[in-house]
Amino acid sequence: MDFTLTPDQRDLQARAEKLGRSFADQAASWDESDDAPYRELFERVGAEGFLGIAMPTEYGGQGGGAVEYLIVVEALFRYAQSWLPPEPVFCTSGPGPSMLLLGDDAVKDKYLHDIVAGRRACNIALTEPDAGSALTHLRTTAVRDGDDFIVNGHKSFLTGSNVNDLNATFVRFDEIPGPKGIGAVVVDATVPGVEIRRGPVFIGDRGIHHGEMVLTDVRVPAENVIVGPGQFARLMTAFNLERLHNCGFWLGFSQAAYDEAAIYTQRRVAFGRPVIEFQSVYHDLADMWVQIEALRLLAYRAAASAIDGRFPRLAEVSQAKLFGATVGPQITLKAMELHGGYGPTTDFAIQRIHRDCVTNVVAGGAPAVLRNGVAAGLFPDRKFPQG
Ligand SMILES: Cc1cc2nc3c(=O)[nH]c(=O)nc-3n(C[C@H](O)[C@H](O)[C@H](O)COP(=O)(O)OP(=O)(O)OC[C@H]3O[C@@H](n4cnc5c(N)ncnc54)[C@H](O)[C@@H]3O)c2cc1C
Repeated sequence: MDFTLTPDQRDLQARAEKLGRSFADQAASWDESDDAPYRELFERVGAEGFLGIAMPTEYGGQGGGAVEYLIVVEALFRYAQSWLPPEPVFCTSGPGPSMLLLGDDAVKDKYLHDIVAGRRACNIALTEPDAGSALTHLRTTAVRDGDDFIVNGHKSFLTGSNVNDLNATFVRFDEIPGPKGIGAVVVDATVPGVEIRRGPVFIGDRGIHHGEMVLTDVRVPAENVIVGPGQFARLMTAFNLERLHNCGFWLGFSQAAYDEAAIYTQRRVAFGRPVIEFQSVYHDLADMWVQIEALRLLAYRAAASAIDGRFPRLAEVSQAKLFGATVGPQITLKAMELHGGYGPTTDFAIQRIHRDCVTNVVAGGAPAVLRNGVAAGLFPDRKFPQG
C-alpha cells in the first residue's frame, strides 16, 4: 500500500494550490454579489491547464484519472476557499463529460472535443421538483419520433444553469417505468423548447445559479443519446464522479476551515494568552485534523480504486461522501465557534465556508440515501425498500 503521490501528481497539486490561492481574495465578492465573473474565471482555469483533466487525450483531455481529478479539485477548494474555481474542471471533466464517454461515437464526436476544450461546458440534469432522492421516479420523458426524440419535463437545482448550455439530462425513454426506463441524452439549452429559469436563491454555493430547465416538446436528435434504457447502473458509474467531486469539496473546505481556525486562534488573545494555548482549543484543532486525515484516506481510496482509473466504485465513494457530509459541517461549525463572536460576521471567511458546507450536504445525494446504499452493501441478502 503506497500513499505517496507521484512527482507528476505533486506538480499538479502544487499548480492547483497556486491557482486556488490566486482566487482567494475574490471569493467573498462572488458570494456577496451572487454574480461571479464566471467566464473570466473559466478562462483563467483553462489558461492554467486544468480543463479536461480526467478525460482521454483523444478528445483533447489530459489523460488523467479519478486521482488527478481529486488532487486538482481538493486543492482549488481549499486554497480558493470557494466552490467556484473547481466548476470549470467539473464541467469539462466531471460526471457530465464522463457520462458521454459511455455513449456511441456519434455523441462523443459531436460534443466531447468542444466540452473538454471548454468551448462548451456540460451540466448534469438529474433532479426534478418531485424527484431528487427518488431519482428512479423521474418524469422527464424522451419519446421516439422518427430520427429524433421529443423530450418533455422539468429539471431543478441545475448547477451552472446560467453559464453552461449543454446538459447531460436523465430522461425516461418511451414511458418505461422504474429504473429500466432511465437513460440520458444531451440537451442543448439553446434549442427551441428549452426554458432556463433562475431557480431559488441559496445561502451558500453562490456566484452562479442552480436553476431550472423546463423542456417543452424539445426535439433531440437520436445521436444525442448518451445511454438508452436498460443501462441505469452503467449510467450511475459515471455519476460516481459527482460523488468524488463532493469528496473533494468536503476535503478542501474542511481544510479551509481548519486553516482559518488555526490562524485565528493563534492571533486571538484572551486572559492574556493566545486562545490556541487553551487545551479545549488545541484539542478541537487536533480532532479536526484527524477527521480530515480520515476523510482524505476514504476519498483517495475511492479515487485510487476507480474502475479503469476513471469511475469511482459505488461503495467506496458513497462511504467517503457520507463521511465528508457528516464531519465537514461539524468541522466548519467548530471553526466558526473558535472565532468567537467574530465567526458569524462577514469580516471573516469562516461564515462563508460554513454556509457553502451547509448548502452542499444533500447535493449529489442526501446522507440518508448514502446510508441506505452503505447498509445495502453490508447486508446484500436483505432488502431495504425505499418506497
Ligand atoms: C447546491 C446544490 C446543487 C445541486 N446541483 C445539482 C445539479 O447540478 N444537478 C442535479 O440534477 N441536481 C442537483 N442538486 C440536487 C440534489 O442532488 C438533490 O437536492 C438531492 O439529491 C436531494 O433531493 P431532494 O432535494 O429532492 O430531497 P428529497 O429527495 O426530497 O429528500 C429530502 C430528505 O428526505 C430524506 N429522504 C428522502 N428519501 C429517502 C430515503 N429513501 N431514505 C431515507 N431518507 C430519505 C433525506 O433526509 C433527504 O435529505 C443540487 C442540490 C444542491 C443543494
